Amino acid sequence: MADSIIRPLSGKNPEFYGMSCPECGWRETLELDPCEMYVITLDGEPDPGPKCVTELPETCPKCQARLKKKKLPITVFN
Ligand SMILES: [Zn+2]
Repeated sequence: MADSIIRPLSGKNPEFYGMSCPECGWRETLELDPCEMYVITLDGEPDPGPKCVTELPETCPKCQARLKKKKLPITVFN
């Protein structure tokens, strides 16, 4: 993600969260709505980017433990 350029189409700043499970080690990067995004990488290859959600999950999809969340610093160019 560090080498990606991210362009929001809606003009709103997206928020990214790193979700992790302290019990089983499951982790995923999620993008919180707004999700109208265009993501490219510096080498020109398309980057699908993180999974888009409108709500952050609270429990682990694998073991149902309570997830930890960490907001990720990502540079956005408007
Ligand atoms: Zn888990």
